[in-house]
Amino acid sequence: MNPAEIIRKKREGGKLNREEIGFLVNGYVAGTIPDYQMSAFMMSVYFRSMDFKETATLTDIMLHSGVVVDLSHIPGVKVDKHSTGGVGDKVSLILAPMVASCGVPVPMISGRGLGHTGGTLDKLESIPGFRTSLSLKEYQSVIEEIGTVMIGQTAEIAPADKKMYALRDVTGTVESIPLIAGSIMSKKLAEGIDSLVLDVKTGRGAFMQSEERAIELAHTLIEIGKRFGKKTIGFLTDMNQPLGCAVGNWLEVTECIDCLHGKDDSDLMEVTYVLGGTMLMLGKKVKTIEDGITRCKEAIRSGKAYEKFLQLVKRQGGDLSFIEHPERYPKSKYTAEIRSFSSGDLDNIDALEVGLVSVLIGAGRRKVEEAIDPKAGIILKKKVGDAVSHGDVLAVLHTDSKDVLETAAHRLGGAFAVATEPSIGQPLIKKMIDENGAHPWRGN
Ligand code: URA
Repeated sequence: MNPAEIIRKKREGGKLNREEIGFLVNGYVAGTIPDYQMSAFMMSVYFRSMDFKETATLTDIMLHSGVVVDLSHIPGVKVDKHSTGGVGDKVSLILAPMVASCGVPVPMISGRGLGHTGGTLDKLESIPGFRTSLSLKEYQSVIEEIGTVMIGQTAEIAPADKKMYALRDVTGTVESIPLIAGSIMSKKLAEGIDSLVLDVKTGRGAFMQSEERAIELAHTLIEIGKRFGKKTIGFLTDMNQPLGCAVGNWLEVTECIDCLHGKDDSDLMEVTYVLGGTMLMLGKKVKTIEDGITRCKEAIRSGKAYEKFLQLVKRQGGDLSFIEHPERYPKSKYTAEIRSFSSGDLDNIDALEVGLVSVLIGAGRRKVEEAIDPKAGIILKKKVGDAVSHGDVLAVLHTDSKDVLETAAHRLGGAFAVATEPSIGQPLIKKMIDENGAHPWRGN
């Protein structure tokens, strides 16, 4: 087969068969297809897209480029959650222990921060000692012992995605629905799950900014899940402002600790409860999402979810003393308060800009190999819809980097918009999406 012929066929809008897709993807993993041909192929997919059959074939080939974990010996319906990525999205750290404490096993393989968005692995690794690179054998032991496990992608899991993702990141081919679907679903299907819940973000801080494209992505992911026998339900959620109050790795962990201790009146917990309730329904512990939400709330209030989090941190090597006494964690050298210049209602917090500022102050990476500062980040003191008076603190920035303090503070101030009219805001959970289509969620 001639790689240039296959690339040309896709470039002209043709449909590729299994042999052609397999030739390129497997060849790329084996090293016989070079980066430049894979880049050209992915760019042609970006422009010409793929139909469902091609996308499912791509996913299947990427999935079988590595090990598919079998967790069938572990009792119960195994359910995971995947978020398409956002700013301040720390849901997984609360969700996995909360759902596991209700008896549904949650095996979770997560990623690092990407662009302006944060990653679960970086947040977990801000806990001193926490190990995210477990072998697949240890991954299985941890889930057997405590009902949940949170690790990073290993060399054995979907190696095609690992290589293709790194290339997409530097060739402007991230925002392609077939490529995103292949990437996400090849990893998730390899984990050993039975069902999946998706948090598909839309808005300024999301990869799919328009609602229409986000719904299209959700449909594709759900149909792929169905094709592979994994029931998948998605929620379209707002990412115009950051989720919760903390942005930055350790700061986000401390917000999760507060939530696990029962602080549950935030947008963060609203999303977490809906995803958790759905996981309990898919895990056959309850009949409806509403019943699942009630169970999840009980798990938080009783302290069961927090206990499960402690077990997880301890089992994966994390130092519990920092979870029990977060105030002992090292502090950033510099802080800056961002104050409001006007009075009114907070109308907008630009999640994309907040994410970019968090990268600038050291909480995220500009290049894959860059180190991050786990202490760095931003605490939002006001959220959209809050009343604001002139001089109120809107946010506090934490960093060790004096050089960027002034620019970062200036840019962060510009991310806030105060209006004199009452703010209408965006519904947080916009739609529920399943095999039958997109449905309104609680009237939205
Ligand atoms: N997350 C992934 O794992 N892959 C993508 O392509 C985008 C988000």
